[in-house]
Amino acid sequence: MPEFDNLVAVVTGGASGLGAAIARRLADGGAAVGVLDVNPAGADPAFFAVAADVSDRDSVAAAIAQVAEKFGRIDILVNNAGIGAQGDVAANDDAEWARVLSINVTGIARTTSAALPYLRASDSAAIVNTSSIAATAGLPQRALYSASKGAVLALTRAMAADHLREGIRVNCVNPGTADTPWVGRLLDAADDPAAERAALEARQPHGRLVAPAEVADAVAYLASPRSRSTTGTSIAVDGGMHELR
Ligand code: NAD
Repeated sequence: MPEFDNLVAVVTGGASGLGAAIARRLADGGAAVGVLDVNPAGADPAFFAVAADVSDRDSVAAAIAQVAEKFGRIDILVNNAGIGAQGDVAANDDAEWARVLSINVTGIARTTSAALPYLRASDSAAIVNTSSIAATAGLPQRALYSASKGAVLALTRAMAADHLREGIRVNCVNPGTADTPWVGRLLDAADDPAAERAALEARQPHGRLVAPAEVADAVAYLASPRSRSTTGTSIAVDGGMHELR
């Protein structure tokens, strides 16, 4: 499926989990892929991995410049890097609120700002942000995380409006609970990880966790010309969880 032949994609947080699956899917479609990650050593060696922290504007700008220098262009930007936070609205102090919002929300602004000159020069420009089921369902004990992912949803729509006339489409995916190292770490912290996993699976409408490749397929659709009439919207990849809550 050579839909991304001659195109260059950047995936933040592409060294693990959903980002790694997205990078793989875009590469399978023919894209050259630059991965920006705080842990570039974790990336598949098939990708051009650059150390970057999306909470640091200079770091992101330097990494985007490295990808552009290596491949000569950037057509697709997947703003996927993100971190979690647990607890109700009183559970996290101001420093933690600032840290999570800086990575999950402002990180998108930093990375997009650095990539915009290249995206404007592309006639296949697309941005896909990773939001979450947390943006659309009232998840318990996820106040800060939900606020950050709700902001990603709103930011996606605002960015779509701003860059519509420049030919840059902006959409997002809202994954449900997906089978990634992040979720694995949460399960491993439980007293009985196997029982916890079974309970988590049973809470999903389709009785299982979302596969990262399913999220990657949705991102590939939104990044490809197949969705050329689609901007400012989101695709839920959650087994229907957003309808059931
Ligand atoms: P993960 O922890 O497996 O991978 C996240 C990657 O992002 C890692 O490689 C990590 O090194 C990188 N990263 C973290 N902070 C960074 C920073 N400041 N700058 C650059 N890179 C950074 O997580 P995942 O489960 O693959 O989640 C990826 C995205 O998907 C996140 O935005 C998350 O909120 C979202 N999401 C995940 C799920 C899920 O169930 N796993 C559900 C909905 C949304």
